[in-house]
Amino acid sequence: MNIKYDVIVIGGGHAGVEACAAASRMGCKTLLITIDINKIGEMSCNPAIGGLGKGHLVREIDALDGLMAKAIDLSGIQFRMLNLSKGPAVQGPRSQADRELYKSAIKSLINKEKNLTVLSGIVGDLQIKNNKISGVILEDGTKIYCNALIITTGTFLGGKIFIGKESFSSGRIGEKASITLSKKIRGLKFPVNRLKTGTPPRIQMDSINWKILEMQEADKLPVPFSYLTDKITVPQIKCGLTKTSHLTHKIIEENINLSAVYSGSISGLGPRYCPSIEDKVMRFKDKESHQIFLEPEGLNSNVVYPNGISTSLPKRVQEMYIKSITGLEKAKILQYGYAVEYDYIDPKSLQYSLETKDVKNLFLAGQINGTTGYEEAAGQGLIAGINAALKCNQVHNEFVLSRSEAYIGVMIDDLVTKGAPEPYRMFTSRAEYRLLLRSDNADQRLTNKGIKFGVVSNLRKKAWIEKSKNIQIAHKLLNKFELNTHLLKSNNIPYKKNGKSLSIKKILSDGKASISQLTKIFPELKIINKKIYKQIEIDSKYEVYVKRQKMDIKNYLIEQNTKIPSDINFNYVTGLSNESIEILEKTRPITLSQAARLPGFTPSAVFLLQNYLKKNLKNISACK
Ligand code: FAD
Repeated sequence: MNIKYDVIVIGGGHAGVEACAAASRMGCKTLLITIDINKIGEMSCNPAIGGLGKGHLVREIDALDGLMAKAIDLSGIQFRMLNLSKGPAVQGPRSQADRELYKSAIKSLINKEKNLTVLSGIVGDLQIKNNKISGVILEDGTKIYCNALIITTGTFLGGKIFIGKESFSSGRIGEKASITLSKKIRGLKFPVNRLKTGTPPRIQMDSINWKILEMQEADKLPVPFSYLTDKITVPQIKCGLTKTSHLTHKIIEENINLSAVYSGSISGLGPRYCPSIEDKVMRFKDKESHQIFLEPEGLNSNVVYPNGISTSLPKRVQEMYIKSITGLEKAKILQYGYAVEYDYIDPKSLQYSLETKDVKNLFLAGQINGTTGYEEAAGQGLIAGINAALKCNQVHNEFVLSRSEAYIGVMIDDLVTKGAPEPYRMFTSRAEYRLLLRSDNADQRLTNKGIKFGVVSNLRKKAWIEKSKNIQIAHKLLNKFELNTHLLKSNNIPYKKNGKSLSIKKILSDGKASISQLTKIFPELKIINKKIYKQIEIDSKYEVYVKRQKMDIKNYLIEQNTKIPSDINFNYVTGLSNESIEILEKTRPITLSQAARLPGFTPSAVFLLQNYLKKNLKNISACK
């Protein structure tokens, strides 16, 4: 039997589901092969979506009609907008999820995809002809052909679990590792290395002494992740707060040689920004305690996820240190914490489309590229899915997002240029153009591009066209009308009465009044759709800065065409690392933009070179 699909996706995790749904939305006959179909959309670790930087990624995925935001809106049990006291640019939506509800939301979204088939199976081999992917072979020998393949195997490739001195082959607790495929990939001479991550023990809800704990509530008015969700209807719960004690630290220190990481059993690096509890205790010795959030795993679940204490210590030590924590004195562990070490492929071997440089039509996305986190995986899955579909649809354009367009663009640029020597996670600080890349305006930045490339469904297209029309009308009105400071002051809007008139846009950008307040004074504003009030207020506040940032980007792009003289000595460029100098020497790029695209040549290195050219070389001519 000769079974053939346009696109095959291996793995039904967070990267895989976005990849297959995107390819299917773009009209490709798509097959998702995953080890266990009941685990599609499984949250391997923390049952939560979003956070600082990560929340931005989720909004961007949604702007391109991905699944993650819709799924968390249907399953979120504690919505909180992080950094609410700071500006909207660095605020991040986050929600705890009901683990089971999240999975079923993902499954039902996948089931709606008309061009998608889901198959339970383990891919053990790849079919490659003339350096081009042509299909996969399942471990049971079934051959399936395709035009493009996306591998999203997460922590399963050569996965090995560690609990103290105990270790065994596994991709996630209770699930088989992907060993044959790991051997195949290593045989193809991809640059494979090892990374690790870990998870905390899970605790039985009714064994926790909740009465003595401080509790944290959800936001009173939960803000949905998806631009298509009007209101969150899932009941919201509280989570508990506690912290490690002096005794916890003592137990960990005394048993540190039993930790899989500290005993040297694991060689792969772990996520720096999500360290294990033994890492925290050993690295930050001056800290008397570390905070722990006790997050229920669902509305009807008896399992609690203690966020902040992932570990690879032996079961006996986990029992001891858990009981040394306030509120957990009688805690019952339902599932022990563990570390998992797995293969990843250096993402420098990828193009911006996430296609591998060495094998045509083969794409990689998610944890296999050295990232950590559901959102990072989903963002890559979406991009790989779009680009695989473009290939199959014989569109010669690639779907690439720049650093000034999206956090997804920042992430992929970082990965393909710098690689991932340690697990990569998103932070707002990774983006240069934060004022532009806000989580509130992802649709304004990306949905039109998504429509152009055919990845946005009609439902969203219609909603977006309506919203963008309303936004345009509102901005026109705000620029057109002015109000006198006398009138403003007499309506308790804090301006000095100086007889001046100010545009409504200016009043909003000063943050001294809301659209609702101004509508009471100036009823003409009533035609602004209430649903976009908040958006218009934020847009107005940021307008000046965004204009400035757009100008910076424009100048940057112009300067990217700056010629690099052929006799330049790169050693004189102040601040350039030896690695960057070596890269430049090897290729001797002709323009700054060519230098910027060189694998391993970082954005900060481009900046240094750009400054050097500006300051030191006369008669720099721009390439026409
Ligand atoms: P996954 O979600 O792992 O999905 C991989 C999928 O591929 C699975 O469905 C699997 O069945 C399938 N698969 C694998 N091999 C094959 C094959 N040969 N054939 C068919 N199907 C296959 N992230 C954080 O942000 N913070 C953390 O603290 C954190 N801790 C973690 C702790 C643990 C123990 C684990 C396992 C993960 C942790 N993560 C953490 C990572 C997070 O779970 C991943 O980043 C995310 O799930 C990656 O998504 P993915 O789609 O790349 O892979």
